[in-house]
Amino acid sequence: MQASSRLGERVFHGIPASAGVCRGKVLLFGQRREKVLRCELVEEDVPKQIERLEQALIQTRRQILEVQRRVNEAMGAQEAGIFEAHLLVLEDQTILDEVTRRITQEKINAEFAFQEVADKYFATLSAIDDEYLRERAKDLRDVAGRILNNLVGQQGGSDLRNLTQPCIIVSDDLTPSTTAFLDRNMVLGFATDVGSKTSHTAILARSLHIPAVVGMQDVTRQLQTGQYILLDGFNGLLILNPTEQTLFEYGQVVRKQVSLAERLQEVKDLPAITLDGHQVILSANLERVEDTAEVKAGGAEGVGLYRTEFLFINRDSVPEEEEQYQAYRAIATALKPQPVVIRTLDIGGDKFMSHLQIPKEINPSLGWRAIRFCLHERAVFRRQVRAILRASVEGNVKMMFPLISGLEELRQANAFVEECAAELRAENVPMNPDLETGVMIEVPSAVLIAENLAKYVDFFSIGTNDLIQYTLAVDRLNEKIAHLYEPTHPAIVRLIKLTVDAAHRNSIWVGLCGEMAGDITLVPLLLGLGVDELSVAVPLVPQVKYLIRRLKISDARSLAQFAINCDSATEIQAKSEALVRSAAPRLFEEPV
Ligand code: PEP
Ligand code: MG
Repeated sequence: MQASSRLGERVFHGIPASAGVCRGKVLLFGQRREKVLRCELVEEDVPKQIERLEQALIQTRRQILEVQRRVNEAMGAQEAGIFEAHLLVLEDQTILDEVTRRITQEKINAEFAFQEVADKYFATLSAIDDEYLRERAKDLRDVAGRILNNLVGQQGGSDLRNLTQPCIIVSDDLTPSTTAFLDRNMVLGFATDVGSKTSHTAILARSLHIPAVVGMQDVTRQLQTGQYILLDGFNGLLILNPTEQTLFEYGQVVRKQVSLAERLQEVKDLPAITLDGHQVILSANLERVEDTAEVKAGGAEGVGLYRTEFLFINRDSVPEEEEQYQAYRAIATALKPQPVVIRTLDIGGDKFMSHLQIPKEINPSLGWRAIRFCLHERAVFRRQVRAILRASVEGNVKMMFPLISGLEELRQANAFVEECAAELRAENVPMNPDLETGVMIEVPSAVLIAENLAKYVDFFSIGTNDLIQYTLAVDRLNEKIAHLYEPTHPAIVRLIKLTVDAAHRNSIWVGLCGEMAGDITLVPLLLGLGVDELSVAVPLVPQVKYLIRRLKISDARSLAQFAINCDSATEIQAKSEALVRSAAPRLFEEPV
């Protein structure tokens, strides 16, 4: 990380993830564990330390059993089985005997003795070139972390749900599930060591209007709780101890933003139509039911992607059909007659990854996620499909399957929906018989067979977040290779074009709901490529609409034509951005 000094302030650079500026006190969350202190004891204290160790072991065992019980309930016995390995670590007599011996012989505190012994075993196991032993090393690290937390009385950082003071969270990482429940009144912004623009944590930050910077590498080591910082989510900066001059400059930035936002409000209720009369649908992406009202207020024409997985996280069990039905119904009725595309569960990837509730996979993005999970866990899928079908009479509901990679998967998903519909018909439950179903096009194989997929669905929605990572082999979460994650890579441009053409040849509509749709510099490119709908984070709707109303489709089509024949991602990006800058210069009159 580059850190420079200016008038006594320090500037830290990262990846801008969610626009906005905030200032306040740092709260270091889930801090990396530092070494615990060694304390010399007197003889009489030794039994007390052994007693503390035993209590911590009992407490840890209780915690692991509780997690295992919850996972068993939510995911089944097979998944809960992984915690057996954790319980075995707790019973490892060799480690425990060595800790006890060190406490007794060296007369040292239990946490120090335990950390030393656990670190030694961890280092030894991880150094051996054996997959099984490396897994055991990870188990040991997890369990040792819990034991140490219990010994030193920590819960891995404070609970972000019970904040009493406004603050800026600085953390190694924030999981999507933690981010989804951040209290917007207390969390002014956040910065993380890891992460990238298209992680679900960054996506959530944007939809929650929380300024955020990610990929800051080691900022958690540079800052302390209570320090005063300014976070600039436009440029990806954290400024420690900002000077009066910096605060003044940022005050101007904020004022400009407010005046731009007011200006954008003027087009809010107008259609997304170009100067030469080409209309597209501008929808919003939604993650939380409680944000539904903002969709309409922001000027979106419905929901192009409702990520249902946020109903499933941070809880002990899969939501019942009735609970899901109530959620889907609430969104559908609130937005009626505007459409709501409900995407079936896209669990896996970075959602749940930082949790213990799903088995860890070596390669989760290529693993047991999304439609693959649902076609396997039919009971979970049944609850959701039935709930969506029931909600389909309450508004303009559409159903969409994520991560389809082959025709057989789509056939199975469609057949399953038909099976659920037959059940509901037999129960005399009303449904919309013309419910539209669609697939996300987010795996390169789906693009190449789009012509075939189009025969079995009513629409496509291109998920560029995943399409880019799978096509370019660039992990969308990894800040170290974020520079390789190029939405304008010629391969991506051509894949979008192939998808649009296949959809239109088969008379179905095609949307784009990845983060690329909300990047104003790329909007003309997407329009020119022929996408019928753009679905973007709610806060981005006004600026995208403002821009569309200032563009000409003829210019956008020439740009797309240029892009299809161009071999340089940078040139495509530059040309698209230049078009936007000349059409809507106001959108660029911002931050420093
Ligand atoms: C995508 O992959 O582009 C997408 C919209 O889905 P998600 O970001 O939820 O994976
Ligand atoms: Mg996706």
